[in-house]
Amino acid sequence: MSNDSASVLEPAAPARPAAPASALAEAALAILRRTFGYDAFRGSQAAIIEQVASGGDALVLMPTGGGKSLCYQIPALLRDGVGVVISPLIALMQDQVDALREVGVRAAFLNSTLSGRDAAAVERALRTGDLDLLYVAPERLLTPRCLELLADAPIALFAIDEAHCVSQWGHDFRPEYLQLSVLHERFPNVPRIALTATADALTRREIAQRLGLEQAREFVSSFDRPNIRYRIVEKLDARKQLLEFIGNEHAGQAGIVYCASRAKVEDTAQWLDKHGVPALPYHAGMDAAVRATHQARFLREEGLVMVATIAFGMGIDKPDVRFVAHLDMPRSVEGYYQETGRAGRDDLPAQAWMAYGLADVVQQRRFIEQSESDDAHKRISNAKLDAMLGLAETIECRRIQLLAYFGEASQPCGNCDNCLEPPITWDATEAARKLLSCVYRVRQASGFGFGAQHVIAVLRGQANARVTQYGHETLSTFGIGADLSEAEWRSVLRQMIARGLVGVDHDHHQVLMLTEDSRAMLRGETTLALRKLALESAAARKRRGARSSTRAGSETADAGDGDEVLDAATQALFDRLREWRRGIASTRQLPSYVVFHDATLREIARRRPRDLAALALISGVGQRKLESYGDDILTLTTADEE
Ligand code: ADP
Ligand code: ZN
Repeated sequence: MSNDSASVLEPAAPARPAAPASALAEAALAILRRTFGYDAFRGSQAAIIEQVASGGDALVLMPTGGGKSLCYQIPALLRDGVGVVISPLIALMQDQVDALREVGVRAAFLNSTLSGRDAAAVERALRTGDLDLLYVAPERLLTPRCLELLADAPIALFAIDEAHCVSQWGHDFRPEYLQLSVLHERFPNVPRIALTATADALTRREIAQRLGLEQAREFVSSFDRPNIRYRIVEKLDARKQLLEFIGNEHAGQAGIVYCASRAKVEDTAQWLDKHGVPALPYHAGMDAAVRATHQARFLREEGLVMVATIAFGMGIDKPDVRFVAHLDMPRSVEGYYQETGRAGRDDLPAQAWMAYGLADVVQQRRFIEQSESDDAHKRISNAKLDAMLGLAETIECRRIQLLAYFGEASQPCGNCDNCLEPPITWDATEAARKLLSCVYRVRQASGFGFGAQHVIAVLRGQANARVTQYGHETLSTFGIGADLSEAEWRSVLRQMIARGLVGVDHDHHQVLMLTEDSRAMLRGETTLALRKLALESAAARKRRGARSSTRAGSETADAGDGDEVLDAATQALFDRLREWRRGIASTRQLPSYVVFHDATLREIARRRPRDLAALALISGVGQRKLESYGDDILTLTTADEE
């Protein structure tokens, strides 16, 4: 990430007596180029690698896609012995190990999915010093057998991945993580590096404390993901909006759709599939084997959409997820950021899209009110929800708000909906007063309150059965709001609830109530500006779709023009390269991105290398891949010379 502000955010570290452009730094860069095929380190990668490779501890906070893996992989290669990576993501270890082997790193994993024989082979390799990296599940690591095994092997480092799993307050809590402090006691001289993409200060302190990393150097990267475009639209017909969004802007691409409930996950997946978007469901209520198959298919096949609850996603490092869509609003900005962060890890343009409406606001509040937790917990939950609502309702740059939430100051980004198409606001003072009077009148007339639908019907002068049943067609507020459509009234009401100008009684059928602030509004003491309901035309969406695919993450070095429109010949070569990759991936049973990323194939198509030396210069082509695939690729790039 180019605008990484690590240097600004990191506490000034005591200057190490570093050799000028140290030999270590040079060796690290050589591995980056030769083994991984990349030109330069990103952000604070180089500093982290030096710290750990020279034997120091590190606590690394970097957003998803920031490049955390290299921060322990390269030190493990630089130091004697094996780098032990502790990760809760058993289902993904195979892929991680495959990807490393593809670039010629001697990697293996130990977890409960291995047969006894395979595990024995890994243990043997460990004893004979034939491993560079070993991935271990925490429960496995903590067995006496494994700890003894490690005591006999030279260890380069311990990397504790997804370190926020140690936090008892987070939703990824793993009790075994609490016992990882044993590593420091047993292996006091082995450097440790803990990594996470969870940014808040509380979690950070908890990690340092529980893992005994108070003395470790902290590296806090900028949490900006400039290639992700944030968009939050008003929910009208969410499924239809989703289908249009995918159809117009992401046809044939991989994406994740988050829903709040299992039933909705199943429905939405089926519905998308029926309408020509290949989609799979994923939630914790599904059979484990089916879930695993769906995850594997999502990783291996191209252009699949995963419809899931939040049970899906941690550690999914599929680089080419082009969009993350939310059909329901997450409960906190942390959740939203973690989920949307799964888009665009390859640094190419990606979108975070959410449909959000009145029901989201009402339901989320109700979940909190009706939960069993104590008042203190409810207060925290409400504050988190308020921040999320603030983000959804803001008429200013979304990214500024997001980053501010994580304590980072920034400028308008030019790559969110509000920057690209500044929302139109209108003076809603009069409408707000009409609505509040109507809430007041219906309650006064009947002695009890009514919900949104009823109040809006009365406002719009609709004498439906329910309205006449209560005689509300005779109220003075009947029909005073006929000038706005139902959708417009829902939009007004949602924004007012989000701001606390209307209350909702969750214990009594979600009926609307007045609040302190609504009384001030009714008395004419305050005015209100609201965002105008934007009913986009299909044409406007198309235009935006076209634009979004021409604007790349233009600040990024290696993918600067990553999504430019390719000329016909280049596109044809790119397609052939992808076809070739599909063949390799399926015979070798690897996800295609483990063979090469799209960005690398695109670059190859554009530059058309004629020999191995030219091919080696392309980002993503390291020594090993050059040996394995160089000739194949040159056959393709030189074939259509004539
Ligand atoms: P994280 O674990 O922080 O989410 P990863 O380690 O999976 O991120 O890296 C994200 C992507 O960026 C990977 O595809 C990785 O190969 C790529 N990457 C990491 N560092 C670099 C670099 N210095 N230059 C180019 N690509 C990089
Ligand atoms: Zn913006």
